[in-house]
Amino acid sequence: MAQILAPSVQWQLRAAKGSADASPLSSKSLSSLFVKQNKRGAVKSSTKFRICALSSDNSTVNRLEQLLNLDVKPYTDKIIAEYIWIGGSGVDLRSKSRTIAKPVEHPSELPKWNYDGSSTGQAPGEDSEVILYPQAIFRDPFRGGNNILVICDTYTPQGEPIPTNKRHRAAQIFSDPKVSAEIPWFGIEQEYTLLQTNVKWPLGWPAGGYPGPQGPYYCGVGADKSFGRDISDAHYKACLYAGINISGTNGEVMPGQWEFQVGPSVGIEAADHIWCGRYLLERITEQAGVVLTLDPKPIEGDWNGAGCHTNYSTKTMREDGGFEAIKKAILNLSLRHKEHISAYGEGNERRLTGKHETASINDFSWGVANRGCSIRVGRDTEKSGKGYLEDRRPASNMDPYVVTSLLADTTILWEPTLEAEALAAQKLSLKV
Ligand code: ADP
Ligand code: MN
Ligand code: MN
Ligand code: MN
Repeated sequence: MAQILAPSVQWQLRAAKGSADASPLSSKSLSSLFVKQNKRGAVKSSTKFRICALSSDNSTVNRLEQLLNLDVKPYTDKIIAEYIWIGGSGVDLRSKSRTIAKPVEHPSELPKWNYDGSSTGQAPGEDSEVILYPQAIFRDPFRGGNNILVICDTYTPQGEPIPTNKRHRAAQIFSDPKVSAEIPWFGIEQEYTLLQTNVKWPLGWPAGGYPGPQGPYYCGVGADKSFGRDISDAHYKACLYAGINISGTNGEVMPGQWEFQVGPSVGIEAADHIWCGRYLLERITEQAGVVLTLDPKPIEGDWNGAGCHTNYSTKTMREDGGFEAIKKAILNLSLRHKEHISAYGEGNERRLTGKHETASINDFSWGVANRGCSIRVGRDTEKSGKGYLEDRRPASNMDPYVVTSLLADTTILWEPTLEAEALAAQKLSLKV
């Protein structure tokens, strides 16, 4: 798919259809071109006109590209920092840019900043200022050079985290000495769906219709099975360039659906990297003229939903005999099932139906190698008696700050009563 260079492709396609108003040239300048050529008598057919329009388009795009790719380093130390934050819905991403005097290596070297929270559903108009605190930096694959992307969290001017700032509480949990001593690792599998811009229907699907049933698409190759690979691949490279701990990608069961994985990453870093990965994906799909959705069940019916499986381990789980700690964690998780479900993403009830490789939202279950369970333990982990667990419940639109810190809280900090524990152990046939 050549959609990555959408501006030129779109203009070319539209120009070829003879639609002047979609061209970067104004319709006035286009028609004067047309008239001039007709007057000269050299160009009569609309085909020639199209070629003429095309070359104008391309040179405009090339000139823009030249400016976008300008290397400013020989002339200034200044860099551009793109400050990124989570907006009022809790999943929308926002960003704006500012000039910084010289290259930086750590977020603490960057100034705090602010934005109009009344325009993002995060503050009332009469007291609209929300303060951005830089928390993590990445290389900017769009601007290159020393330019950076800055993941921020959000505060009132008085220094209180605003309600959509879930990072603040997560950072508290991860800095608890009991939690940090366990060096919690997370591997997050971010699934997402690509939609055609105008019709909001998955990429590769016939407009208003359906492709053949699921089966050939998962990790599939070929023009009739894989839709949007260039986006997934462009994103993969962009993540590596940025410094995101991306560990892989794959085409998903539903056509037009993809996954990338981050991890294993320690503590709060996993969530910072997922949010930056999501930001890159929004920017790349924006360039490609494709719409990204993190809806957990974008298409009703016999089509897989989109999740964000969260693989998790503590130091104890990774060491010899760690399976005991994994079982104890599963026990705790079973006792807080409702609490976890309510923190695992909006609309997850449409996805966790008990079908399509999910467990029912109402029941907690676990199993070895079983993809129909809430928690899956891999064969390798069972065999070696140590390793990690996979929480399959989180939806694709979950907040990774919430999910990762809640997992650490429930399995490291929280303790059930002995009575509740005994009861749950019996119910799950788990001896701990
Ligand atoms: P699946 O088989 O469920 O599709 P994936 O290969 O997509 O699994 O993702 C597994 C994730 O688990 C990867 O991000 C990987 O880095 C991560 N992972 C591997 N080992 C551990 C561990 N010990 N603790 C936490 N995460 C881990
Ligand atoms: Mn996976
Ligand atoms: Mn998957
Ligand atoms: Mn998985």
